[in-house]
Amino acid sequence: MPNSSTQQQIPVTLIPGDGIGPEIVDVVVRVFDTLGNPFAWETQQAGVNALEKHGDLLPQATLDSISRTGLALKGPLSTPVGGGFRSVNVRLRETFQLYANVRPARTIVPGGRYEKIDLVLIRENLEGLYVGHEHYVPIGDDAHAVAMATGINTRAGSRRISKFAFDYAVRNNRRKVTIVHKANVLKALTGLFLETAKQVGLNYADQIEFNDRIVDACAMQLVLNPWQFDVIVSTNLFGDILSDQIAGLVGGLGMAPGANIGERAAIFEAVHGSAPDIAGKGMANPTALLLAAALMLEHKGQKEKATFLRDAIDSVLSTASGRTADLGGTVSTSKYGDLLIERIRDMQK
Ligand code: NAD
Repeated sequence: MPNSSTQQQIPVTLIPGDGIGPEIVDVVVRVFDTLGNPFAWETQQAGVNALEKHGDLLPQATLDSISRTGLALKGPLSTPVGGGFRSVNVRLRETFQLYANVRPARTIVPGGRYEKIDLVLIRENLEGLYVGHEHYVPIGDDAHAVAMATGINTRAGSRRISKFAFDYAVRNNRRKVTIVHKANVLKALTGLFLETAKQVGLNYADQIEFNDRIVDACAMQLVLNPWQFDVIVSTNLFGDILSDQIAGLVGGLGMAPGANIGERAAIFEAVHGSAPDIAGKGMANPTALLLAAALMLEHKGQKEKATFLRDAIDSVLSTASGRTADLGGTVSTSKYGDLLIERIRDMQK
């Protein structure tokens, strides 16, 4: 499926990131060269890597590039612990108002604990306890005697993410949306979210079924019977936790892509972090970032190419000899890229 040279390439900001980021981004770039790349990469820095080179975790040039392109593919970014640094990922989401985080999970590697998983978690990305409004109250000589955090959910934000989830369900031929909350205890904070999401759901009642689950019960049900779920919509912190759990159902973090979507920009990434424990060892699984790039293809209307890439990934991962260490295999990051490129070439014949 070559890229027609007459087609205009779509500019995308490409951020290699930290740790395993550059290794897995390299595989994506090589694979897209073979696939017929509809994107024109504009490489920019962010994360610890950028801090060392430019004195800033999130350089202005990177922000300007994303403002221009409205589209980014991002390797994982490390946030230095302590030192008052705010998470770069949270800053990017806030700067570009990327209010919806979409995390699909699908079984690709057969023979795992769960077969035929196919569900999508949609997480509110800008509100809730994640806003990080925290402080300590000193008592006597203990400066950190009491820790406090404030969560903020708004009706407008809850409506926006719920509408996004139901629209997503309609667009992607999904059957059900489950609203996940903790309204039995956090009656205001997540009660508002539940109430608003249910109101939105009623507008889709003739197309999409909906129900709701308390987050702890949802976590248990995801282990006992994950097939009952289809699309899950939740607040920021619960969505954060459940999305890693859901990644675990399909083979772990190496398999989980994510999209951060706003009105003006979208940033695609793997759910996992920079994996400093395996960085530079050629052990990282690039599948999650490749699947994120497939989401980006779909986002730009290139569904056929996205399906082609997913089929090639499925095919390589269908045999044990095509898997990286996290999936019980022995192939290195770059060898996995080579195998995928070979498979794409075979499929293009
Ligand atoms: P992590 O996701 O980096 O790693 C957790 C475990 O999963 C590690 O054992 C790691 O080796 C493994 N793992 C992760 N991705 C893998 C892959 N592609 N292939 C094979 N194994 C993989 O989480 P962490 O260790 O808690 O965080 C490390 C750093 O990443 C921190 O600085 C954190 O802030 C940052 N982080 C960034 C993002 C992001 O950029 N979106 C997300 C999460 C964490």
